[in-house]
Amino acid sequence: MPEALLPYGRQTIEDDDIAAVAEALRSDFLTTGPRVEAFESAFAARVGARHAVACANGTAALHLAMLALKIGPGDVCIAPSITFLATANCARYVGAEVVFADVDPHSGLMTPASLKAALDRLEGRRLGAVLPVHLRGDVAELPALQALAEAAGGTLVEDAPHALGSTMRFAGVAETVGDVRHSAMATFSFHPVKTIATGEGGMVVTNDAALAERLRILRSHGMVRPAGAEPWWYEMAEPGYNYRLPDVLCALGLSQLAKLDRFADRRRALSARYRAGLSALAPTVEIATSPPWSEPVLHLMTVLIDFRGLGRERLTVVEALRARGVGTQVHYIPVHRQPYYRDRYGDHDLPGADAWYDRCLSLPLYPSMAEADVDRVVEALGAILSL
Ligand SMILES: *Cc1c(COP(=O)(O)O)cnc(C)c1O
Repeated sequence: MPEALLPYGRQTIEDDDIAAVAEALRSDFLTTGPRVEAFESAFAARVGARHAVACANGTAALHLAMLALKIGPGDVCIAPSITFLATANCARYVGAEVVFADVDPHSGLMTPASLKAALDRLEGRRLGAVLPVHLRGDVAELPALQALAEAAGGTLVEDAPHALGSTMRFAGVAETVGDVRHSAMATFSFHPVKTIATGEGGMVVTNDAALAERLRILRSHGMVRPAGAEPWWYEMAEPGYNYRLPDVLCALGLSQLAKLDRFADRRRALSARYRAGLSALAPTVEIATSPPWSEPVLHLMTVLIDFRGLGRERLTVVEALRARGVGTQVHYIPVHRQPYYRDRYGDHDLPGADAWYDRCLSLPLYPSMAEADVDRVVEALGAILSL
């Protein structure tokens, strides 16, 4: 009998989460109700931002951020090649083009050097947004990235779904991901594998009241109800979308957000156990590097293995792990290698992204895992690699 499969990530839904949803279902509001604003204020307070705007999912959050900045045709956005598709696609939704930045092969993060190299590929075109991703939960070097983006006329927007709860320390100052001190906006997702879950769900945070206002209008069809107008009256200055997050899901979000500290502590404890266990498999198995300023709540436990050097196929290792009840995932296939982007921009080399892709493998990490589960994963990996 194989042991139950440990997925690489999963949600933690408890009885009080279910009760919160049931209560919302019995209330008068299924779409927009009081829980939307309650979730937004609680979220803003938790990350230290002035405004939070809930929306349908993390992809919609990115789309809204591009719309709020009025990015469009003629603009170029810069995204790291190691990320989920949506980080790059949001530029295309608004008609902007994408230049892919390389990443550090040990952390998977966009760096000031890789952003500089990407800026050199603008070829005179106008810079829209620069979209660093806090891959795995580790924080990108925000102050330097912001300085470079702004010097080139662009705006920093953090794609932060991996980093809810992560903190950082630049020049000794403690900061929280989402306090948006170094960027115009940060986006989050509440997809089940992320740190808190609402099923589908997303959030944009900003300290800029005008951006928050635009995000809210664009989230709901571009409709504005001018003060003092007739009760039925609304006006649309530009078409928006239906990207609202329902009251029922905000109830779940509120309930989950109250558990963020506990989930974060659990992720930190499990990561520490992985660190201790995996040290026995070094240097063949290397844990992705955390930069010195980053104090992550890891979303992913990604290890780097030189499969080629070992003469092993990653697929064989993945299948052998699966046979022992260990699920894994590859985060991510370089987005610049996707057929759509290859057709549009041609082939080019981002050696850091390729090196990361060749070696990366994400192991199970989620709050309801037991210490013994971590030990089982480490043992299985060691046995399969004959270490
Ligand atoms: C999950 C994720 C998204 C998309 O979020 P959805 O809620 O699934 O739309 C975007 N960017 C990154 C880095 C993500 O991890």
